[in-house]
Amino acid sequence: MRAITDPGRIYVLVLGGTTEGYDLARALHDAGGVRVVTSLAGRTRQPRLPAGEVRIGGFGGAAALAAFLRERSIFAVVDATHPFAATMGWNAAAACSEAGVPLLRLERPAWLPGAGDRWHEVAEWSDAAELVARAARRVLLAIGRQELAPFAAVDHVWFLIRSLEAPDPMPPFRRAELLLTRGPFRLADERALIAGRRIDTIVCKNSGGTATDAKLTAAREAEIRVVMQRRPQRPELPTVAAVDAALAWLAAL
Ligand code: NAP
Repeated sequence: MRAITDPGRIYVLVLGGTTEGYDLARALHDAGGVRVVTSLAGRTRQPRLPAGEVRIGGFGGAAALAAFLRERSIFAVVDATHPFAATMGWNAAAACSEAGVPLLRLERPAWLPGAGDRWHEVAEWSDAAELVARAARRVLLAIGRQELAPFAAVDHVWFLIRSLEAPDPMPPFRRAELLLTRGPFRLADERALIAGRRIDTIVCKNSGGTATDAKLTAAREAEIRVVMQRRPQRPELPTVAAVDAALAWLAAL
């Protein structure tokens, strides 16, 4: 790693909000030698706090992030934001390029459909809502709470909205129930949910990882439809899938 002249300063910025971000902050903090500051967007009211220093809230765009990198003498940035947090990814790329700070993307691989899966991949929620309106009756909507609006117009379908926190405001769904819960979700529970609520369609994002993939196995077993939103485009960057590889990248700087 490049020589650190002032160990009192912060050197690695983790753009977090994901399990990978927490795990990386913990690993860097425990390893010592560098200081870590994690940035969280501030969407969750009572977020789990990562090891090391934490700052919460948007920076105010790419130029402001570049200024933050300079002010705090950030040595390297790891973008460990969620695969669907693409705006932050583009901002990080622009800011790091402007400030001359190395940037790594830490991202869990996408899920891939396998034999027996009935996936319909979509780019936009409006396409997912159209598909649901045409083909579904009882839907598990597992997309968080912020992007529900296109589904609220689908009057004849019943939705089970699963999210960490309640939507605020709640879009005007005619037939919906809210299930507030935090993953990880176990296969036995996902099977029971699909059978018990007679779910015929799951709508979700291609988040990847193991915390929420049991629903896909349960959907395959039950032979029900999955409407899967594809990941948005992100900047071309050095990318790793695991914390160990991120540590190795940092060590090689
Ligand atoms: P986004 O669309 O990429 O970002 C929108 C704005 O939020 C950014 O321009 C930035 O504001 C701010 N922001 C995002 N991540 C930030 C971070 N780690 N630290 C400081 N500011 C951040 O992001 P999003 O989809 O709203 O997601 C917000 C956060 O929730 C992300 O950090 C992500 O890891 C986490 N998350 C997202 C999802 C999802 O499905 N999208 C799921 C799980 C967790 P400024 O331009 O003002 O800097």
